[in-house]
Amino acid sequence: MKSTLLSRRDLDFLLYEWLQVDELTKRDRFAEHSRETFDGVLDLCEQLATRYFAPHNKTSDANEPSFDGETVTVIPEVKEALDAFSQADLTGMTMDGEVGGAQLPVTVAEAGFAWFSAANVSTSGYLMLTMANVNLLAKFGTQDQIAKFVRPMLAGRFSGTMALSETQAGSSLADILSRAEPQDDGTFRLFGSKMWISGAEHEMTENIVNLVLAKIPGGPPGTKGISLFVVPKYLVGEDGSVGERNDIVLAGLNHKMGQRGITNTVLNLGEGKFRPGGQPGAVGYLVGEPHRGITYMFTMMNEARLGVGMGAVSLGYTGYLKSLQYARERPQGRPVTAKDPATPQIPIIEHPDIKRMLLAQKAYVEGGMALLLYCAKLVDLQHSAETDEERDQITLLLDILTPVGKSWPSQWCLAANDLAIQIHGGYGYTREYDVEQHYRDNRLNSIHEGTHGIQSLDLLGRKVTARGGASLVALGAAIGKTIGTADALGGEAAELARQLDATWQRLVSTTTSMFGSGDIEAAMANSVVYLEAFGHIVIAWIWLEQLLACNARSGDFYDGKRQAARYFFRAELPKTGPQLDLLTAMDRTTLEMRDNWF
Ligand SMILES: Cc1cc2nc3c(=O)[nH]c(=O)nc-3n(C[C@H](O)[C@H](O)[C@H](O)COP(=O)(O)OP(=O)(O)OC[C@H]3O[C@@H](n4cnc5c(N)ncnc54)[C@H](O)[C@@H]3O)c2cc1C
Repeated sequence: MKSTLLSRRDLDFLLYEWLQVDELTKRDRFAEHSRETFDGVLDLCEQLATRYFAPHNKTSDANEPSFDGETVTVIPEVKEALDAFSQADLTGMTMDGEVGGAQLPVTVAEAGFAWFSAANVSTSGYLMLTMANVNLLAKFGTQDQIAKFVRPMLAGRFSGTMALSETQAGSSLADILSRAEPQDDGTFRLFGSKMWISGAEHEMTENIVNLVLAKIPGGPPGTKGISLFVVPKYLVGEDGSVGERNDIVLAGLNHKMGQRGITNTVLNLGEGKFRPGGQPGAVGYLVGEPHRGITYMFTMMNEARLGVGMGAVSLGYTGYLKSLQYARERPQGRPVTAKDPATPQIPIIEHPDIKRMLLAQKAYVEGGMALLLYCAKLVDLQHSAETDEERDQITLLLDILTPVGKSWPSQWCLAANDLAIQIHGGYGYTREYDVEQHYRDNRLNSIHEGTHGIQSLDLLGRKVTARGGASLVALGAAIGKTIGTADALGGEAAELARQLDATWQRLVSTTTSMFGSGDIEAAMANSVVYLEAFGHIVIAWIWLEQLLACNARSGDFYDGKRQAARYFFRAELPKTGPQLDLLTAMDRTTLEMRDNWF
């Protein structure tokens, strides 16, 4: 039976027929691998996700973690799934061999991990955080930190969190208040409170390794004064043994709309419940140099943001496949031309409006998946680049695509989940079916790892203008190359290429005129409109790429791809027209709206 989590056929198409990921094995970094090992990883991920993660997705949603004042209880299936994942040695999939990783391409790892997110985004959330944590610590931590924390996390004995946010400082991390007092022995004592920390506090692993942002008193103001610390739940002895309880404690659990299976916590540091070594404060170990915490976090941020985008795609994808299956099985109504009520009902997939909703979902989720795998391949090319110039070009492209890779799927794969509910009719609105949960679970993705609004400021305020617009030029060159190939092919591909070219040229001239006006405030006021138009143009390009990769092959799979590309160009890309009009006009409606007019 075909999986309703993801389509392996589509993944194979994207990875091998389009991105030619097997070519990466020619690079030193991936030379140990082959198409067989990549396929083996994808098979394993599908099997584990199907066997250990999907079955408790609804159970963990209905039975969220609970806190009795001392201990947090999580349903046992979650630990079983986490153990299965780490026993398969998947935590260090992309990490260097020398720290115990498998040095797999990020492209393959992302495609593999998508199975887990599609099956159970909450349980896989614990893993995603642990993987982000080990990646960061392996890169910037000391050998001692790697031995004490990274290796046990890779072995599945410890898990990890990323503790950045505070109640008063979410989008604006410059305003965090947690402080880290230096001690004579080189360690720090931390005091403060962290808000929204996922995966912190549970009993499923021997220890929890929190990566915490805090300020060392006397440092520079704003983000330049933020440092990064390892603050474990339990202190770890020189021999690696888990010892005394640290003073990082759970103040309470947040109760969420979705992603309910993963703990989301308010943590207090140094409140005095525990006094490690008889002293006040939570013991923390500085990562790297003082005041460079945000820099370290940001080097990982691209991958974290793309990971969020992939989570959104995975949830959109499974919702699409489930609504497709439902539409094929649900009889209701007759064709508009059938007047005789005695004729049998038809499956709803025969209704053009249902086909519209399925096609839109297909265009969103397969477009999103393709974009994220394309970005993941850029990460691989960046990691394995042979010259600085090559690395620089890839970095420019990756920089400008990252806010899109995070925000476009968070918006449109959520829209896909909305359509999946609609296809289910009344049943979609009940908890008997999965799609309402996918919608709730997916709703988080435009909020965390930088909200939609923050991504738009990043794109327009930083990425588009950085280095004199070099990233925009790099993207224009990549799009131009696709247009050139499509043009040479003629026919439908050339027709779509002309439409893309015209829209892209319009985006470039709009961007130039927005900045040329010198009115930065007005330009930035519509940054979300810019992000959304930009995102649709990027996805149109990605669909044209997919169309080209179909390469005149015949069969349902390729015909479906071509129809989805057509749909995107006919029904979606034109939506950017009014958005670009508004941007060109430097519209001030929202900017000039006043608080007291609401
Ligand atoms: C379920 C969940 C899990 C999370 N997990 C973690 C975690 O593991 N670790 C962690 O550190 N954090 C985590 N977060 C925190 C998350 O990153 C923040 O919620 C997010 O960054 C937004 O911060 P905020 O909630 O304070 O909202 P605010 O920053 O107050 O934003 C509120 C609104 O104002 C807008 N806004 C804010 N500033 C600007 C601006 N300058 N210009 C325009 N608009 C602006 C935002 O876009 C948003 O719409 C999690 C959050 C949730 C809900």
